[in-house]
Amino acid sequence: MERQKILVVASGNRHKIEEIADILKEYKVISMKDAGFDGEICEDGKTFRENALIKARTVAEALHTTALADDSGLCVDALGGAPGIYSARFSGEGDAGNRALLLKQLEDIDDRRAHFECAVCLYEPGGKMLFGVGKTYGSILREERGERGFGYDSLFFSDDLKMSFGEATEEQKNGVSHRFRALEDLRSRL
Ligand code: IMP
Repeated sequence: MERQKILVVASGNRHKIEEIADILKEYKVISMKDAGFDGEICEDGKTFRENALIKARTVAEALHTTALADDSGLCVDALGGAPGIYSARFSGEGDAGNRALLLKQLEDIDDRRAHFECAVCLYEPGGKMLFGVGKTYGSILREERGERGFGYDSLFFSDDLKMSFGEATEEQKNGVSHRFRALEDLRSRL
């Protein structure tokens, strides 16, 4: 029997790692922490792609193994694409604080169009790298719907699913998500 290839994911976000493991079923996905990385990563890129590269390269070079990183976020048209690469740090108060701030900033705004964006980078020590990008479109609800997922999921009404990501099962979300599309894009280049 062929042994499953191990892939280290340069992330500390349990939800992201679970989603990636679910999508990349051919790999045994392990977190950077479980692979022995406990350093700091300075995410000071200006784009999703730059940040994905920084994370993947840092972990790959520290552990001398191939690493995959995802950088992702929510881009809201009426906010000029914000919070974008700052999605995780939008309010400085975690996911619930981020959702509350988003609702506040869109309080009097009718244009609620938004998309999630994701860049993934697969980096081999020595400098070989591959990227994938993906987007998924929808709109921002006026109140939270559903308790599944993480981050902004309960506020994001998906065009594809006609429900919020917070209401969707993992299987439903993982069939249309920005992360799934970025990983498919990467897979097509492997
Ligand atoms: P990162 O870990 O620096 O890439 O930050 C990603 C942030 O974007 C997360 O903390 C969430 O706030 C948001 N985000 C990215 N992907 C998703 C998703 O699939 N659902 C909900 N929020 C997401």
